[in-house]
Amino acid sequence: MSAVGIRVERVSKQFSHRVKGLVYAVKDVSLAVQPGELLTLLGPSGCGKTTTLRMIAGFERPDAGRVFIGEQDVTDLMANQRNIGFVFQNYALFPHLTVFENVAYGLRVKRMAESEIGTAVHDVLQMVGLAGYDRQFPNQLSGGEQQRVALARATVIRPRVLLFDEPLSNLDAKLRVHMRRELQQLQKQLSITAVYVTHDQEEAMAISDRIVVMSHGAIAQEGTAESLYRQPASEFVAQFIGRTNLLTARVLSVEAGDTVLEVRGMRLRLSGQSPHAQPGRPVRLVVRPEVLTLDGSDRATGLPCTVSSRMFLGEKVEYHVRVGEDLVQVTSYNPRSVFAPGQAVTLTLPTEGIPLLPGGTT
Ligand code: ATP
Repeated sequence: MSAVGIRVERVSKQFSHRVKGLVYAVKDVSLAVQPGELLTLLGPSGCGKTTTLRMIAGFERPDAGRVFIGEQDVTDLMANQRNIGFVFQNYALFPHLTVFENVAYGLRVKRMAESEIGTAVHDVLQMVGLAGYDRQFPNQLSGGEQQRVALARATVIRPRVLLFDEPLSNLDAKLRVHMRRELQQLQKQLSITAVYVTHDQEEAMAISDRIVVMSHGAIAQEGTAESLYRQPASEFVAQFIGRTNLLTARVLSVEAGDTVLEVRGMRLRLSGQSPHAQPGRPVRLVVRPEVLTLDGSDRATGLPCTVSSRMFLGEKVEYHVRVGEDLVQVTSYNPRSVFAPGQAVTLTLPTEGIPLLPGGTT
């Protein structure tokens, strides 16, 4: 069976809130998932990602807009008519059924022949690393094993698409990292189109082909993890994807393809231009902690600052340095340059690879 895409066209969903009245959980959202792609809906609590996923699944009906799976308009179909696999945060296994029966459930509903059920369940249990677990009950399994059963149950029916709602958030940190790799491998191995919901940006970056960042019921930006990290379109996305410093600067001039800025009294020539760089206008610089360097020598040129705190984390050292009233995060991967809290140092910015955003006051 070849993979199919998903299209969500201008969907909206309102709920009535006891205090706020009628509010949009999702407003006019459109997105397309390519066949075989793993697309993640990422955003803070309440941004509308679960509601969007539930509308794709058929658990919620949109007030407006359409949902397509492949070429089929499924908006008016019930969830059980859409041929989707859904993996929930809380596994949602039947506690009174064995692993075998939990996985076989969907096949029995489809009235598959008993002999075929046995083979299908054993194959899928093998695939998720649970061969031999047939007779166990859910309460005899670890969280990770229960989630594997849930995954087996979702995939055994050979769904057209797989939908994941925060599937790893009940697992401990180490298992979460392990399971996300397994989950991604399985999705690629099955070559099945998947939509994944999480509020964990690192998890989203680790597993997704593409990420849709949501905020207040709408799409803030979409792209690969790398493009969102390197070219955030707003302060919200810059701060949600990875760690960042937002420094206010003023554009002095744009010359020969470069942008000349003043940052806290220092002149900085950045290679490249930005539509936000208009001479005399304030801009915000998206400066990731790892592109900054600290220099303790007298000869350094840059922003004078004072080390406020230092955290040694093995392969890297994380600093907070005080530049005027601002605290700036700096990550150093150079074990030879270690600075102490209270020490006066110089902060150096690179001359390329710093995205500019509009706004701020100088
Ligand atoms: P979380 O990560 O906390 O689950 P989310 O981004 O998935 O958040 P949604 O669950 O989609 O967000 O909720 C979006 C908004 O819609 C929230 O303000 C939520 O309170 C509201 N909402 C969602 N479902 C319902 C419902 N059944 N009844 C009333 N309000 C709802």
